[in-house]
Amino acid sequence: MEISFLGAAGEVGRSCFIVKGRKNTMLDCGIKVGSGDKTQFPLLEDSDVKQLDNAVISHAHVDHCAYAPWLYKHKYAGKMFLTKPTHDLAQLLLADYLRIAKDFTPYSQADVNNFLKNNTIVEYGDEKVFAREGIQFHEAGHILGSAITELSEEKTVVYSGDFNSRSTRLLEPAKLGYSAQILVLESTYGGKADLHPSNKDSTQLFIKEIRQTLDAGGKVIVPTFATGRGQEVLFAIESHIKSGMLPKTPIYLDGMVKKALKIYRHNAIYLKKEVQRRILTSDDDPFKNELYKYPKTRSREDVTEGGPCIILTTSGMLNGGPVFTYLKKLAGDANNKMILVGYQAAGTRGRALLEGQKSVEIDGERVEVKMPVVQASFSGHSDHKELVEFTRQINGLEKVFLVHGEGRKNEELRESIEKTCKKVKVEIPKLGETLEC
Ligand SMILES: [Zn+2]
Ligand SMILES: [Zn+2]
Repeated sequence: MEISFLGAAGEVGRSCFIVKGRKNTMLDCGIKVGSGDKTQFPLLEDSDVKQLDNAVISHAHVDHCAYAPWLYKHKYAGKMFLTKPTHDLAQLLLADYLRIAKDFTPYSQADVNNFLKNNTIVEYGDEKVFAREGIQFHEAGHILGSAITELSEEKTVVYSGDFNSRSTRLLEPAKLGYSAQILVLESTYGGKADLHPSNKDSTQLFIKEIRQTLDAGGKVIVPTFATGRGQEVLFAIESHIKSGMLPKTPIYLDGMVKKALKIYRHNAIYLKKEVQRRILTSDDDPFKNELYKYPKTRSREDVTEGGPCIILTTSGMLNGGPVFTYLKKLAGDANNKMILVGYQAAGTRGRALLEGQKSVEIDGERVEVKMPVVQASFSGHSDHKELVEFTRQINGLEKVFLVHGEGRKNEELRESIEKTCKKVKVEIPKLGETLEC
């Protein structure tokens, strides 16, 4: 049995792996946002498609699913497994991807439709599907519908996808404790210094930062992924307004955040029990609030010319989307503030600003950034310690492949895992490599 690493090897983005055993199973098929050239796609050839029997999409983020329609363009005839929320969110995110990537599109809307029509919805923990197909999903706690995949092959493989071991405002934590010989593990926060503060501490810091700016009459921009962080951030703000810790302020939802919110609401049964209860059995529905507003004009002048407010908008790493409009109009005023809440990959504008850069290029124009840019941790990923603990709790583990992490983080995570799990061998695959299990 072997695994080919066609993306997300030494990088965050374009997750795509093929497990070759009794059957050939693809784990994720994503793109790398922002690179703009061929390096944004996984190293897939037409000939790979014919040899595939099954494919799994772990969750709807574009770095895990946005290349899947390409398979259908190349006449993929195998099965495609995903959860219901992943299906619904992917429909939204792929439409947006096609719109943004207009000049460099690897497939058409028709291929997206084929992908959406020809897949198999699987629920978490479905033993019957596991017995029949050798594939089982488990809660990953990362975004709505995100899954850890258990694959029964010549050896049992656990593919972590992106996962969060902590319970959040909306989601149950990832399921821990498996029996498997092989683990394909994400390493986004694999560095030894990557230790997340407690949810309580990071929320308090986030709320304090917002409050300071609102009290001084400024506007707060929170760029976020449309799915996952967007909803967590919104509900953190909502509950602090309700408790009086934040003033009653308009919260503008822009870009995909608004549409993704509807999908979260429709898929409420995949949310945490207590959130389900609020939605289904009380009037206290966090998805409905008179303070949630939507910009009225394309220019967003009603927002940028108005009073203090909070703006939640895509994209999270400042790669595109309406956040550009807000940056152009609001970044030059030191009274405003930008709070980054998600992972900022190397080479993105978000990362550059965090590292102290005082301007960014947008649509060929230099935009001066005088407003403070701060970071609040709302991570949907496990941190260094939690990644090690996830690994430690796998029975019979022989080998770990680290993916979805940059450079040194992989090395540091390998060191810690090998120290904690003495019998386990950790490998850091290179892009395009096929390694034996
Ligand atoms: Zn993700
Ligand atoms: Zn990812």
